[in-house]
Amino acid sequence: MGEEHRTGVVILGGGFGGLYVAMELEKTLARDPGVEVTLVNRENFFLFTPMLHEVAASDLDLTNIVNPVRKLLRRVNFFAGDVERIDLAEKTVQVSHGFDHHHHVLPYDHLVIALGSITNFYGLPGLAERALTMKSLGDAIHLRNCLIAHLEEANPDCSAALRDPLLTFVVAGGGFAGVETMAGLNDFVRHALRFYPNLKNSDLRMVLVHPEPVILPELGEKLGSYAQKKLGERGVDVRVNVKVTAVSDESVTLSDGTRLASRMLIWTAGTSPNPLLASLPCKKERGRVCVDATLEVPEWPNVWALVPDSSTGKYFPPTAQHALREARVLARNITAAVRGKPKKKFSFATIGQLAAIGRRSGVANILGVNFSGFIAWWLWRSIYLSKLPRFEKKLRVALDWTLDLVFSKDLVQFQTFRAPGISEQEQPERVPVNAARDGQTK
Ligand SMILES: Cc1cc2nc3c(=O)[nH]c(=O)nc-3n(C[C@H](O)[C@H](O)[C@H](O)COP(=O)(O)OP(=O)(O)OC[C@H]3O[C@@H](n4cnc5c(N)ncnc54)[C@H](O)[C@@H]3O)c2cc1C
Repeated sequence: MGEEHRTGVVILGGGFGGLYVAMELEKTLARDPGVEVTLVNRENFFLFTPMLHEVAASDLDLTNIVNPVRKLLRRVNFFAGDVERIDLAEKTVQVSHGFDHHHHVLPYDHLVIALGSITNFYGLPGLAERALTMKSLGDAIHLRNCLIAHLEEANPDCSAALRDPLLTFVVAGGGFAGVETMAGLNDFVRHALRFYPNLKNSDLRMVLVHPEPVILPELGEKLGSYAQKKLGERGVDVRVNVKVTAVSDESVTLSDGTRLASRMLIWTAGTSPNPLLASLPCKKERGRVCVDATLEVPEWPNVWALVPDSSTGKYFPPTAQHALREARVLARNITAAVRGKPKKKFSFATIGQLAAIGRRSGVANILGVNFSGFIAWWLWRSIYLSKLPRFEKKLRVALDWTLDLVFSKDLVQFQTFRAPGISEQEQPERVPVNAARDGQTK
């Protein structure tokens, strides 16, 4: 007797979108013995991006804002691998994994595309090779390491002539990621200076470059101007109405012709949809798959995607809060489709947006009401702490924040290379035991 066909639901991507679809299906379809739900993600963890800048700025321990997917999902299968190809006609997904990157083909009945976006350098000279990015846990750890490396490099006397480019840190992009990153870095390096006897506050140059007149445009002019003023008071040089146009090993060039002597550019100013979507034979808009109001791809039934509803002309901001709310509706609609029930339309109004701008201050707009300063920072911490999955991680983050009141920020570089060893060829010549003993007694 042949094995009974189980309805296969395959979710691609374990970010806010994909993971929350899987978590919702844990409670419904994944309990059904006739259904098999599988989540595919490159990393074996879920990254809580709103706190990423706190890792880069040494406010939080490196792994406190990530959760292993296997601890979050008990009934949904997890496949740690790379999605390489999606074949909508064949209803299959090709994935690779393992040390040898071998391939598997996963068939599906329902497919969820939640692969997020990638950084876009817009082909600007030097950026792809030299700019640091802020999207992954690796990015934040790398940035933190680079900051500490710059301080170590700049401190000795022999580096006095190189201090300018070493201590000029440029962040491109005045959106949430750029502003929070700059605020965190500014606090971190200024706190760290007391451990570097040759470096002074006035040696540091922190530059935030934003192409519009006011930073944080999503929060409106009033809060954006407040954030701009606060950052300025804390030593950040906020340059508005300009763009980064090129970067080299020694400098960052801006669209107004300024050349900043700097050896570090952090690029948060552009994203584009995941390139895997380009080959899909379905309607797209600005590279994003178009879906109907139920988040299903119209010409491809049972293919779902976490993207704005372009059929009704509504576009939702690319934030975690939208992704996870879309995820819940999408998961309920898959459950409805499998069980032959009516699907629901996605509709959601932004509840609020918050940004931490350093030194226990923030800006927030919640249900149309503006908050700034300490109260906004407190709201930022309380709201995001409550959203961070799993009690263990919440507790670890809360402890880090509490200990931060007593101890200074950590300056340890997180290095992953192997300690030196001696190969067979480099072994010192072996001296016979007798000869060695004779040598000692001579
Ligand atoms: C630094 C930073 C700070 C942010 N702060 C906030 C904030 O404060 N508030 C807020 O609401 N939003 C914030 N966001 C935005 C928020 O992170 C995104 O809106 C949200 O992550 C989008 O979810 P997603 O699931 O669409 O994509 P992602 O979260 O990017 O998830 C995509 C997943 O797909 C995986 N993937 C991609 N390609 C492949 C492949 N080929 N094979 C296998 N896996 C693959 C990725 O590894 C990733 O796990 C921030 C983003 C960043 C980068």
